[in-house]
Amino acid sequence: MNDIMNEKIKGKHTVIKPGATIGILGGGQLGRMIALAGREMGYRFATLDPVEDAPSAQVSDRQITAVYTDEAGVRELARISDVITYEFENVDARVAAVLEEEAFVPQGSELLRMTQNRIREKSTLASHGIPVAPFRIISSEQEAEQAIDELGLPAVMKTATGGYDGKGQRVIRRAEEAATAFIALQEFQTEIIIEQFIPFTKEISVIAARSLSGEIRTFPAAENIHKENILHLSIVPARISSFLAEKAADLAETIADKLDVTGLIAVEMFVTKNEELVVNELAPRPHNSGHYTMDACVTSQFEQHVRAICNLPLGSTRLLTPVVMVNILGEHLDPLMEQVANLPDSVKLHLYGKKESKPKRKMGHLNVAAESVDDALKIIDKIGIWK
Ligand code: AMP
Repeated sequence: MNDIMNEKIKGKHTVIKPGATIGILGGGQLGRMIALAGREMGYRFATLDPVEDAPSAQVSDRQITAVYTDEAGVRELARISDVITYEFENVDARVAAVLEEEAFVPQGSELLRMTQNRIREKSTLASHGIPVAPFRIISSEQEAEQAIDELGLPAVMKTATGGYDGKGQRVIRRAEEAATAFIALQEFQTEIIIEQFIPFTKEISVIAARSLSGEIRTFPAAENIHKENILHLSIVPARISSFLAEKAADLAETIADKLDVTGLIAVEMFVTKNEELVVNELAPRPHNSGHYTMDACVTSQFEQHVRAICNLPLGSTRLLTPVVMVNILGEHLDPLMEQVANLPDSVKLHLYGKKESKPKRKMGHLNVAAESVDDALKIIDKIGIWK
């Protein structure tokens, strides 16, 4: 930040105008798509990432090549940026503190701290009356067995921090599996919880945006289908009743409000057969299940994020067309490239510019718009590389 005095008066009335520099901690695909959207609006971008030519650096004005915990690198990002955001939630607490002291970080560090840890996240949600799966914290095999007695089977054992795409997680179907699962999860060197298995009929997510001045908007709910714990499809509109869609939007809005969010918050939820919603996880950033908005909503989640942290009015989240987003993982890239010249005209290709393609690594996605989600699913089926 250039002007310390100016810094101190930044608050909920501040507007960061186009022309200003947005600094992004993290150089992956989410940062890249934030920068692409923000550049269209006239913002400039600086990225901090350890990898030279990272996806977000490729579309930024400046890259600082440093690990996320490098204090000098983080200070430099603070110095050259008018506002700072992040594209992943596992930001080191010390780094968050340095940034908050030396830069303008409208999202703050409290939401990061909370969403970094399942125990804090679930306890906070529960304290606001938001439904979450009942859970117990366990620190021994005996406690694991006792928790299972109380919660019933099946149950899900999870690490409190660091898990993603199903890593650090075990489903327990028989009581005797608890001890081995507990020992296996010790390797992650973090606290462990057990939660009740929710027999869901669908998984959905809603992304809410809240601006610095408190305006809130939600995007239409996405129905999410995972393969091997990695998001495969987001189907929009979700195939749920309008009652449930409204309830999901209300829940996301309540969470954005109660947690005093600035920026985006993605809310992953389970739908039960009685049309109840149970919140599984939060992400305080753009989310893979919101990529459909890039080609199917008036405003994309990335533009909305920029608007929210810069305190511009939030954009319309209206859905313009049924759409299905399908992820392109490393193993899909070559087969897709073979037919890239023949893709139907309603298919929008987004690739993230990652140098190295590895199995299960997210390399890009397709947004397939159609008359109906069934038609979009048929087009994806016909492309045929996800079998
Ligand atoms: P998570 O890492 O918490 O997002 O969980 C990854 C996936 O595991 C979810 O998308 C669900 O499909 C499944 N899962 C996680 N927790 C539960 C639960 N309590 N009940 C049923 N399925 C779950």
